[in-house]
Amino acid sequence: MSTTEDYYTILGITKNASADEIKKAYRKLAMQYHPDRNPGDKAAEAKFKDINEAYEVLKDDQKRAAYDRYGHQAFAGGMGGGAGANPFNGFDFTGSGFADVFSDIFSEFTGQGRRSKQRSYAERGDDIRYDLVLTMEEAFSGLEKEISITTSKICETCHGHGTADGKEPPVCATCNGSGKIRTQQGGFFVFETTCPQCRGAGRVVLDKCKKCKGSGKEKLDKSLKIKIPSGIEDGTRMRVAGEGEVGKNGGPKGDLYVFITVKQHKLFERYGVNLFVEQPISMTKAALGGQFKLKAIDGEALDVDIKPGTQPGDRIRLKGKGMHYMNSDKRGDLFVQFKVVVPTKLTAAQKECLQKFDDSASAEEKSFWSKLFE
Ligand SMILES: [Zn+2]
Ligand SMILES: [Zn+2]
Repeated sequence: MSTTEDYYTILGITKNASADEIKKAYRKLAMQYHPDRNPGDKAAEAKFKDINEAYEVLKDDQKRAAYDRYGHQAFAGGMGGGAGANPFNGFDFTGSGFADVFSDIFSEFTGQGRRSKQRSYAERGDDIRYDLVLTMEEAFSGLEKEISITTSKICETCHGHGTADGKEPPVCATCNGSGKIRTQQGGFFVFETTCPQCRGAGRVVLDKCKKCKGSGKEKLDKSLKIKIPSGIEDGTRMRVAGEGEVGKNGGPKGDLYVFITVKQHKLFERYGVNLFVEQPISMTKAALGGQFKLKAIDGEALDVDIKPGTQPGDRIRLKGKGMHYMNSDKRGDLFVQFKVVVPTKLTAAQKECLQKFDDSASAEEKSFWSKLFE
């Protein structure tokens, strides 16, 4: 109960009003104060609630009699509502009554007929998934790719209704099209369960279309071109709107989701827009310095300098030679980390060279130590 105003006053009728007069008064006011006609108007919304509350009681002979006798007190439920004196405690006002009555009357007004009372029969189509594997090079440059998907279209035989005669299936008699069954227990709790007859659909297909076996759709193989932006990351999910399965009974199509996997590169490791590569260099190149060639992700041949005295694990950064930022010309960097390779097989000549090198280094070392302790 939200209002304390007299129900007859709310509806603008006398205490002797007939059932017909009550209904007429309600209909007129409900249209006038309906929230759809007064968007954002709180006062109208409150008034609309009061009108419905009043009608809910006055349209029911039993409740009206109780109201005439006890006033609002007749319906003051809950704690401390004078339970002893009130035989009507526990009336379910938010249950079945209100919504049904209102949609009955209001649907006449909006011209939607009885359909508005039923569950919406249209259903959105299912989404479909397509897995696309790209090479790192493809992810770098972006591309247009033609893919083949299996989706569905409306069954031509039954026009999507799933019925043998191709017409809309009849409204379920068990639930009257709502798809739900309400049961009241002890006059207090209202249970709502899915209708077992139509399994919630609100309609029952008795004779199924032979072509689609009642699903209302048929398989459709199609190919379509999708544009993959440059710089796309592994694990990206691209949504292609409206390329999913067909909807049921005029419902919208689902979407296509393309799940992108970017394969590992044999050379480069990717960290966002940056690339990383480990470059083995010889012990002598590390000591003396030099150059090596490296093929970048875009195919460019890079001449990379090795500084004399490069240590194992030293890194250099090649600016702008990494991956693209998504949908941009801007690029990340390429990091090269040096791995100094120590030879394991030496020819006699090489051994001799290295021995000479070692002798000179030792001599240098000796003179260093001797100077220190002189
Ligand atoms: Zn069919
Ligand atoms: Zn049903």
